Amino acid sequence: MRALALFSGGLDSTLAMKLIVDQGIEVIAVNVNIGFGSTVDRTEHMQNMCDQIGVKLEILDLRELYLEEVLFNPKYGYGKNFNPCVDCHGFMFRYTGQLLEKYDASFMISGEVVGQRPMSQRKDAMDNVKSLSNYDDLIVRPMCAKLLEPSLPEREGWIEREKLLDINGRNRQRQLDMAKEIGLKDFESPGGGCLLTEVQFSNRLRDFVDHDKLEVEDIDTLKAGRHLRLPNGAKLIIGRHQEDNEKLKNTTSKKYYKARILDAVGPFSLLDKKATQEEKELAATFIVSYGKTETDKNYTVIFEDEDESFTQEGQKLPTKDEISKYLI
Ligand code: SF4
Repeated sequence: MRALALFSGGLDSTLAMKLIVDQGIEVIAVNVNIGFGSTVDRTEHMQNMCDQIGVKLEILDLRELYLEEVLFNPKYGYGKNFNPCVDCHGFMFRYTGQLLEKYDASFMISGEVVGQRPMSQRKDAMDNVKSLSNYDDLIVRPMCAKLLEPSLPEREGWIEREKLLDINGRNRQRQLDMAKEIGLKDFESPGGGCLLTEVQFSNRLRDFVDHDKLEVEDIDTLKAGRHLRLPNGAKLIIGRHQEDNEKLKNTTSKKYYKARILDAVGPFSLLDKKATQEEKELAATFIVSYGKTETDKNYTVIFEDEDESFTQEGQKLPTKDEISKYLI
């Protein structure tokens, strides 16, 4: 008997897998990458969790399908921000379910807990997730299974319902006790949670889709730097530190000029190729302002891809206050 687990890297999905492994069932952890999971790469963390409980990790890149099928048209709407959690869970189960045959697995599990999250883990929402998944009866939620109708694997005796749990609500004490009991280490996820639940990121995303078509390669640029919308609608992204600069440098998006100060240390930046001449000049002043620059000196900003540069006089640099009205 083998099961596929929706695995986020978090404590609940790790413990859910452990409960099934302890019943002598092989579990394969499937992490669905929707692109918005975190600002840092959590592969190492996920591998560490899987190693500790003895399951194999598979990563499923569904970023493109997520943009096409879920993000902009969720049947069950959004949570507080840009997070379409019910549809998102249904989507993850639907595509993981399509792998059951490939892995010769019989059912799926997840770490969902009734009442833990306001949008997606209410009992009715969990039923909606099941119906969106197309694999209704093959989904088991080991952390709270005793509070739900028995699924096919429980009714058929593939797994023992008695050994599953009845956790309910937001209190995490039982999960923490379980982690201690099994000696699970370093289970706090690095890099925070899903960006779609964050206000600032959601505003950034909303602004982006108001002006442009979102493609997979745009997702990473949304995660780095300061974002500014210039007067005629062009987007400017200015790195805040080395890590941002690297991310912006490495973008594969063809929407931007890569911009930098030629004669001083300063941020790596991206400017929309739709920028007007006026916006390019304005962008150059902003980029120089965020550099290690002095007043009374002139600096040149170059826009790669276009042999164009602007020389900016130090004394005419805008203040951070003036720039702030363009920040998203
Ligand atoms: S928080 Fe919601 S939108 Fe984000 S990954 Fe989880 S279910 Fe999906």
